[in-house]
Amino acid sequence: MFNLKKFNQSEIEKIIKEEKLPSYRGKQLMQWIYKKFATSIDEITEWPKSLRLNFSQKYYIGNIKLIERKISSDGTEKFLWELEDNEKIESVIIPDKERLTLCISSQVGCPLKCKFCLTGKIGFRRNLNTWEIVDQFIQVSKLIKTKDSEERKITNIVFMGMGEPLLNFDNFVEALWRFKNLIEFSPRRITLSTVGIVPALKELPQKAPPIKLAISLNATDEKTRSLLMPINKKYPLHELLKTLREYPLKPRQRITFEYVMLKGINSSEEDAFRLSQILKGIPSKINLIPFNPWEGCEFRKPDEPEILKFQEILASKGYSVFIRKSKGTDILAACGQLKALYIYNLS
Ligand code: SAH
Repeated sequence: MFNLKKFNQSEIEKIIKEEKLPSYRGKQLMQWIYKKFATSIDEITEWPKSLRLNFSQKYYIGNIKLIERKISSDGTEKFLWELEDNEKIESVIIPDKERLTLCISSQVGCPLKCKFCLTGKIGFRRNLNTWEIVDQFIQVSKLIKTKDSEERKITNIVFMGMGEPLLNFDNFVEALWRFKNLIEFSPRRITLSTVGIVPALKELPQKAPPIKLAISLNATDEKTRSLLMPINKKYPLHELLKTLREYPLKPRQRITFEYVMLKGINSSEEDAFRLSQILKGIPSKINLIPFNPWEGCEFRKPDEPEILKFQEILASKGYSVFIRKSKGTDILAACGQLKALYIYNLS
């Protein structure tokens, strides 16, 4: 049996030809999967029953399976999925006024082992396939459809769930093309968050549709960054910043820098001044994320006045800098808290 979501558009066209079906059947199939979110061939009511039956002998529409859905007091929701090989991943939706942002996972676990991030504790299990990345959008879209006329729709996508998207480059990029061409979701409403895998960053503008870029910076000097994020030894801060200075941006486009604030580690006034220095020449926006704690972690978030002072220094240097209020902390759905808790119970 073949999962139809594993094929791209031209492969589907080929299958339709092989099955001796007219090409419009292929278009219908893609419509039903990516626009109407059909979860089985039998739902394709535009097809005669006999065709549905026949097609189902060889093909099926695969679905990641919902295991658990948790709603936070602030409206954030976390979805736990089971994959066909029983691995587990999580996605989160974050409502904010008119926006509804879907936070997507790109790997099962993560190989990067950033010290402050809970996902790193699982270690790396495997890359997600293209269809497993895209299916998080499809399944959530289906689940949040309300029965009344007012429809809830995802307005933004961020690759900020489990895993490092640029370490799953081909599947990540192919997923972006499917979002753009099949789901018809604007790439400008998609954000990649990455620690900065330098060679992949250099390749991205030629290979992918034009998405927004967010860099998890988290430190202002090589030593501290290497301590917090071991990947910095392979792709050091200075090399990353150089790559970003040369990164092709559209007019008015900016790179977002995410900065997890850790008390006594990266939150001093000196750090704020150094940050303003090292970002010179890069059109940037800074998101300060006060550390979200998890059981057994060695870090604390800085006190409010320290965070505000950090922000003030950067603002005085002309940067747009926001303090990101963490959402969904009560259900471990915030940044760095995803680990499919009940399954990979490691703490
Ligand atoms: N691997 C990618 C995608 C994950 S995004 C990346 O690192 O960018 C997850 C974001 O949450 C990153 O910006 C990371 O720095 C941040 N983060 C991780 N653990 C956190 C924690 N405990 N508190 C706050 N932010 C955290």
